[in-house]
Amino acid sequence: MSSCIRRGTSPFFAACLVLATVVNSASAQAPTAVPAGAIPQDFRSQHFVLHTDLTAAEAKELLEKLEYMLGIISVYWQKPPKGIIECYVAKDVAKWPAGSIPDDYGRQKIARREGVTVSLVLGNEGKSTVYASAEGGVAQHEAVHAYCAQNFGTTGPTWYSEGMAEMGQYWRKGALDVQVHEYVVKHIRESEPKSLNAIVNSNETTGDSWENYAWRWALCHLLASNSNYAASFRPLGLGILNQKPVSFEQAYGHMANEISFEYLFFLQRLCNGFRNDLCAWDWKRKFTAMAPGTARTMPVQAGRGFQPTGVLVKVGQSYDVNCTGTWKLDKKSTKPMTAAGEEGTKPEDDGKLIGAIFSDFQLSEEFEIGATGSFSIPSDGQLFVRCRSDWGSLGDNTGTITVKLTAAK
Ligand SMILES: [Zn+2]
Repeated sequence: MSSCIRRGTSPFFAACLVLATVVNSASAQAPTAVPAGAIPQDFRSQHFVLHTDLTAAEAKELLEKLEYMLGIISVYWQKPPKGIIECYVAKDVAKWPAGSIPDDYGRQKIARREGVTVSLVLGNEGKSTVYASAEGGVAQHEAVHAYCAQNFGTTGPTWYSEGMAEMGQYWRKGALDVQVHEYVVKHIRESEPKSLNAIVNSNETTGDSWENYAWRWALCHLLASNSNYAASFRPLGLGILNQKPVSFEQAYGHMANEISFEYLFFLQRLCNGFRNDLCAWDWKRKFTAMAPGTARTMPVQAGRGFQPTGVLVKVGQSYDVNCTGTWKLDKKSTKPMTAAGEEGTKPEDDGKLIGAIFSDFQLSEEFEIGATGSFSIPSDGQLFVRCRSDWGSLGDNTGTITVKLTAAK
């Protein structure tokens, strides 16, 4: 799952090897020379040549996935794919004849059910060869490295290179929700969260472990899909790949606390279907205390995460709440509910209005508010509220209620 870049030291050195690679892939264009049943068989698509022991149908499916992904990433990184990416993808590498995989390290990686991309780079161009296990997503991951190396001559620092390669294997056009392998979700949810600093500034190297890839993927997913950070993320990535003097610190250093908070928030709630775009924290909202006896109203959407009330609160204070309107937890459900929620549904998905207190980049436990009545404040800070709903299906929710808060006298 790594990218190994070998830099040419002179144009002659690089040109020689690039030429050799071109000759290899040219010979791969003549599958008729390979006897039926021999390993590997060769398959081609517009941007890939695939040497593999997959069946013809499986190879076609993989090439379609690779082309689809390449289409998305080449638009994202604003460079049409240059050249052909050569891939060795094996289900059972033990059956491949000696010498059929030109790189011993590539063969070892495949045998460990992993992958590696070997790129020969001169300046800002390269020629890449992918060695990948046929297991889910490995070839797509490596193909992201190959595209970056062939088009930019670099794949960037480890956190970006590996985070984006993991993104690549999951990217679907227009989709903003998390859809990753269950083992990624399980690992992140069950581990002590890694700090932002540990991910971005560590000496971790590429190809270290899939666990580290999970953290880098999560950071890239957050930065790419949360509106607080997305606008800076693509230019940062383009700067990295175009080898401009840019860095994570330069782009986001002034927002380190905010990113750390939202990153942790995301990790703790990670599930398939999670939408960072719907959970972006409102950092601009001003919060002020309410004088006793005064009231404020605010809209709260069912289809978003925590939303600011603008009310600065103190522990022990009491507020009356009176909500009007209804919302739904599923576009198809016919039954709208009030902010009281619905008894008998899953407790974490019952549609009740709930609150939490934000203070010093920490969020309190959630507490119930409901549609009417009074509630007391558990700690000092800023009051945020949301419709209690499963984090993996926020995108289904519809409707907005109006919350009226009255500070007790
Ligand atoms: Zn990788």
